[in-house]
Amino acid sequence: MTDTSKLIQGRTGPWEIVLGLEVHAQVASKSKLFSGAAVGFGAGPNEQVSLVDAAMPGMLPVINGYCVEQAVRTGLGLKAQINAFSRFDRKNYFYPDLPQGYQISQFAHPVVGEGEIEVERDDGSVFTVRIERLHLEQDAGKSVHDMDPDWTYVDLNRAGTALMEIVSRPDMRSSEEAAAYVKKLRTILRYLGTCDGDMEKGNLRADVNVSVRRPGDELGTRCEIKNVNSYRYIQQAIEYEARRQIEILEDGGKIKQETRLFDPNKSETRSMRSKEEAHDYRYFPDPDLLPLILDPAWIKAIEDSLPELPDAKKARLRSQYGLSAYDAGVLVIESARSDFFERAAEGRDPKLTANWITNGLLAKLSEAGHDIDASPIKAEDIGALVRLIEEGVVSSKIARVVFDHMWAGEGDPAAIVEKHGLVQVNDTGAIEAAIDAIIAANPDKAAAVKDKPQAIGWFVGQVMRETGGKANPGVVNDLLKAKLGLA
Ligand code: MN
Repeated sequence: MTDTSKLIQGRTGPWEIVLGLEVHAQVASKSKLFSGAAVGFGAGPNEQVSLVDAAMPGMLPVINGYCVEQAVRTGLGLKAQINAFSRFDRKNYFYPDLPQGYQISQFAHPVVGEGEIEVERDDGSVFTVRIERLHLEQDAGKSVHDMDPDWTYVDLNRAGTALMEIVSRPDMRSSEEAAAYVKKLRTILRYLGTCDGDMEKGNLRADVNVSVRRPGDELGTRCEIKNVNSYRYIQQAIEYEARRQIEILEDGGKIKQETRLFDPNKSETRSMRSKEEAHDYRYFPDPDLLPLILDPAWIKAIEDSLPELPDAKKARLRSQYGLSAYDAGVLVIESARSDFFERAAEGRDPKLTANWITNGLLAKLSEAGHDIDASPIKAEDIGALVRLIEEGVVSSKIARVVFDHMWAGEGDPAAIVEKHGLVQVNDTGAIEAAIDAIIAANPDKAAAVKDKPQAIGWFVGQVMRETGGKANPGVVNDLLKAKLGLA
């Protein structure tokens, strides 16, 4: 079925974008897929290279069981088929940063088969992306072209690092859906702890397959955009590439299947190489490695150890705390956020607590470019602030002032209220005195308000100003109505 809301208009009519993604996620392991060399960011060039990674003669790969476990764990988190039998193949090609002359990957028999992910769009609606497979493979090293005008350097620190390649079906129809899919996938990987999802370091990157077609037609010829490593770049690359293909087709041309690169400086894609087919790589089973045979009891033990995943947690936050789909969705994006919420909400009004976290704290943190782990405000203090509001010690307006002091690192909100004299004035005597003085000073306004009741707002403002914003607004309103004869 074609969703007409996502069609884009060309010169000669509407087009549909069809997107499938191959995401490479670096396994969060301490050592490489087939060697004991360390995996880590920031080491000096070629400091984390074993003889296996450098492909010295006679070296043999040894599978890292921990990496296999993480792949299985990820597969289970993607509700996917776990294959008890899988096998490593050699994918042969030459590249200066690939000393073996082949990449060890899984071609015919991946460790994980078909699964699926539920993805939320920005408007809250949900769609499903089918997962075709997840396989384990080695990463390559890095060629460094910009250190010397005449030479290219090679850094093999990344060579042999374990990657999970997660291949989706072509189930996305817009750049927003593609970005939402990667976001959701990243959230699941981080919940599982199998990949840190750090896109800036390239630990999670997407190859984006883009094609266009007339609604209802067969799939068009696709181009693959390699190694895009931010949500924004993924969207820009797709937008550009879809337009490029539509223009060619509308001019009567044909799309050449090829691999393209995204240039973030120009926001455009350019041709890298014409697309090779699987048979060009001369895949064959790696004779140095036995097939992987997984024990069903071992798989079951991993399944039993899975944490509560984002979809289940979202449903629970909604039913247990009565949160809106939006608030629950924002909180489960990172498990650290929902943990923070649950600590803060203990014994407090959960909706009010969620509101202070999503609209207050998370907004501030995003302005400052921080994660919730770096929050200067502790969960317990958000809870204490909500308690002050519930008990009428501060109005929600004054609570914002208290919050600003908390953000500045002053800690306990009760101490802040004390120190800065922010206690809400509930004392009707004090408020009455303020009201009487204001009415006495403005008899004409007090008379006019009888014909124009909404003018009471001016009096509320005066009373609040007189009391430094600390008067209980409910009490102020009630007293004003009585004294102005509006009650
Ligand atoms: Mn790959």
